[in-house]
Amino acid sequence: MPHVPPLALYVHLPWCVRKCPYCDFNSHALPAAGIPDRAYLAALLDDLAFAARGLEGRPVVSVFFGGGTPSLFAADAIGAVLRRTRELLPTSPDLEVTLEANPGTIEHGAFTAYRDAGVNRVSLGAQSFDDRHLVALGRIHSHGEIEAAVAEVRAAGLENFNLDLMYGLPRQTLDEAVADIERAIDLAPAHISHYQLALEPGTAFERRPPQLPDDDVIFAMQGECQRLLAEAGFGQYEVSAYAREGRQCRHNLNYWRFGDYMGIGAGAHGKTTNAVTGEVMRTERVKQPGLFMSASRAEQRASASRVVAGSDLAFEFFLNALRLNEGIEPALFEERTNLAFDTVSGAIAEACGRGLLEWTPDGRCTPTDRGRLFLNDLQAIFLVEQPGDGRRA
Ligand code: SF4
Repeated sequence: MPHVPPLALYVHLPWCVRKCPYCDFNSHALPAAGIPDRAYLAALLDDLAFAARGLEGRPVVSVFFGGGTPSLFAADAIGAVLRRTRELLPTSPDLEVTLEANPGTIEHGAFTAYRDAGVNRVSLGAQSFDDRHLVALGRIHSHGEIEAAVAEVRAAGLENFNLDLMYGLPRQTLDEAVADIERAIDLAPAHISHYQLALEPGTAFERRPPQLPDDDVIFAMQGECQRLLAEAGFGQYEVSAYAREGRQCRHNLNYWRFGDYMGIGAGAHGKTTNAVTGEVMRTERVKQPGLFMSASRAEQRASASRVVAGSDLAFEFFLNALRLNEGIEPALFEERTNLAFDTVSGAIAEACGRGLLEWTPDGRCTPTDRGRLFLNDLQAIFLVEQPGDGRRA
């Protein structure tokens, strides 16, 4: 029988108070009439039952409410999705349930209600503690609202929380980037995600690019912030993710280790492995919330689904797993792709030869410092690997 990886659930809640100019997520500014939360919840629950078909008996290891701004939804909606998940599928005893929340959308006591609904991890979109930069990013909150949100999270006993921060912001100096990371560390979260601002296609920033720091300054920001995070006990385990011991995000680890996940909600993506055939299926939902809600049958919400060709599986695995500092065990590759490790031996040898990968004494294949620096080049080596005969096309 084929190996079947752990199963997670991603729930997309697609509205924000307003659209940030750098954002390429499937997020939409609040309608004037407010969020149609009841209609969206009904569609989500129907979508969840549809996504769970064929996965009966497989335990869910993590649930992630992402967006958009999930904290615009009331705790009872979050609780209803979790209850329905438990009705449809078993859940692991240490189920991780993350809710993304944006400062400025948090009412007093809200996190206590989310906790009571089943949330046990919060990810706060802080981005910066400098109000000038927050304005430039189009964020609705001030640094004071981040600190108020952290106090609310703590008051609810949710110590397992993440702060999202960005660097390389318009006209940001090295000192300002360092001040941001120092403030984040002072707030003692369990996890910090530290991303470089990118001008993504289709965003307002791509159409009217702001003046960003030059590459040398960005490189220095990354290096200095990494150093401060390490000094403060935050271990880097992925390109942008840092955690205290035992506080890595299990949901994201499951993506990077090529686990399975149902993706429900407008524009959500999913990936599941067929327990009988071993085929990997990728799914996608319609992006427009209006279409997602108005579908009269669950099938109409599925905008795309495709079986991943064997020749693409190895690349998709490495695209994810090479982001992890822990590197790759050959056994994990075989379990997650149902391919023999030999099928990638040519690519591994090439990456090692170019100084981008190395074998550790305990038998893991790990990106070198150079490999991490040139991650796109490293990932591209696996793009054309052909399973079955180890040939490169
Ligand atoms: S709050 Fe987040 S999801 Fe919403 S528009 Fe801004 S960056 Fe995008």
